Amino acid sequence: MTKQIALTFDDGPNTTTTIDVLEKLKKYNVSATFFLIGDSINEESEKSVKKAVEMGCEIENHSKTHSDMQTLDEQTIKDEIKYTTDEITRITGRKPEFFRPPYISVNETMVQSIDLPFICGHGGRDWEDEVSAEERASLILDAVDDGSIILLHDMPGNDKTVEALDIIIPELKARGFEFVTVSALFKNKGKKAGVHNGVVYSDVDQTLRFDDPLP
Ligand SMILES: [Zn+2]
Repeated sequence: MTKQIALTFDDGPNTTTTIDVLEKLKKYNVSATFFLIGDSINEESEKSVKKAVEMGCEIENHSKTHSDMQTLDEQTIKDEIKYTTDEITRITGRKPEFFRPPYISVNETMVQSIDLPFICGHGGRDWEDEVSAEERASLILDAVDDGSIILLHDMPGNDKTVEALDIIIPELKARGFEFVTVSALFKNKGKKAGVHNGVVYSDVDQTLRFDDPLP
């Protein structure tokens, strides 16, 4: 079976960097998964979401307000998820199947209140402006393998990540990887992403919980 990997982008949608990322995906003919902030969805940015869907990308939930959800109570957490799920369903006609916690900040209340699998990924510190495109790419290329999820950000102004895609995508293609969405990655690898299990998946075969000590 071919080696597969999922590119993912957080903190959209917007009409600038989201579009630049989509142009790169188009250039290399690959798909990706976008985790949206509900409060960033508006009449204009919605068009970027529709464009992504037309290109075969998948749209998932990254909360409504992008708060550290460990500070929120159960009802507020549920409201955050519902708002963004409803907005995505309205725009795309498909209900999100995955959740990415803002700041990858997770506690037991969140695990029990959110009815979606939690997704993290291998990042390239691409939220730090001083990290160059080359460094972002090499951090990711050193960390990933078959079944991995790559964590990047399409927040406005994050041009170095757009640039890094010109290194990351060709290199992984040369290594024999196929790019798929997060749901396709789990499905194709014969794995099921668990719900309420405390796992924050960076790879499809991950079993460590968020509160387990690192091996
Ligand atoms: Zn985020």
